[in-house]
Amino acid sequence: APLRDVLADLRAEGRPSLSFEFFPPRDDAGEAVLWESLRRVEALDPTFVSVTYGAGGSTRERTVRATREVSRETTMQPVAHLTCVSASRSELRRVVGEYADAGVSSVLALRGDPPGGPGTAFERHPGGLRNALELVELVRSLGDFTVGVAAFPTPHPESADADQDARVLALKARAGASFAVTQLFYEARLWTELVDRAAGHGCDIPVLPGLMAITSLRQVATFTKLAGAPVPARVVERLEEAERRGGAAEVRRTGVALTAELGAELLDAGAPGLHLYTLNRSSASLEIVRALGLRDPEHAGAPAAVAS
Ligand code: FAD
Repeated sequence: APLRDVLADLRAEGRPSLSFEFFPPRDDAGEAVLWESLRRVEALDPTFVSVTYGAGGSTRERTVRATREVSRETTMQPVAHLTCVSASRSELRRVVGEYADAGVSSVLALRGDPPGGPGTAFERHPGGLRNALELVELVRSLGDFTVGVAAFPTPHPESADADQDARVLALKARAGASFAVTQLFYEARLWTELVDRAAGHGCDIPVLPGLMAITSLRQVATFTKLAGAPVPARVVERLEEAERRGGAAEVRRTGVALTAELGAELLDAGAPGLHLYTLNRSSASLEIVRALGLRDPEHAGAPAAVAS
């Protein structure tokens, strides 16, 4: 079934969606790590797995290949990310065609970050698109794709305020996006506020909160860079306290527990599911899923028990 129907059914039944994000591997070692993770999350029967598109379109072939392999060699629905960076309209059309040929019918339509780096303006390719809204329209015009988009619980760096992000999300939904995945964040109320503001603009598509487990103090910096917003002080304090108490292992345990708490708060607040940023390592994400009791690996796609 098309992903938009699967998401609608889950919502109607009040069951949470569960999805995982990966990036295309760079080499054979990375490929092995990715596949180990894919096989482990496959056992949880996720709603979909998404594969990112590198800055400047640098992973085009690798994103196509990884999503094709997910489509052909697993039971999971792939979602291929796509950005407008450094691409003409016809090049974007061609990539969407490659996705379709690879059996991929869901696309996460993104603008991409400015190639000049943070703080610079986004310059569209002379024959290309200005924003994700135009890419949603393009992908929808090319076939029966389920299109997802990005959403921002903390303001996007180029947005005047949070309301602009909600307004743009509503425009993307009106243009044909059926779901959204959020940037990383660490306060459940930010998701609720975003969804309420979007509803005020007439947008009611499922907005899946994007979560990433913090597994080390060093990762707090990665998180801040990716999210464009700092990790809240109370979270950092708990991680530092864990380090004093039990070192790296305790920081990891605490980081996973904090992320699971956030997931539980979000589901209580009505989130339609959770989207886990894995960085291609599945262990922490699987621990979160287990802590929340979201899927029981014993009963979903596990190899048949050995007959006694
Ligand atoms: P847009 O929706 O186009 O928004 C960009 C800015 O323009 C915002 O400030 C918005 O308010 C403004 N804007 C857009 N349209 C309008 C309008 N009509 N009127 C007024 N203002 C407007 N990047 C990658 O390179 N590869 C990936 O695979 C990738 N995956 C991601 C996955 C998720 C879940 C998220 C949240 C982000 C991802 N990104 C990825 C990063 C993303 O490309 C950047 O955050 C980018 O800066 C914004 O993308 P967008 O699709 O939200 O853009």
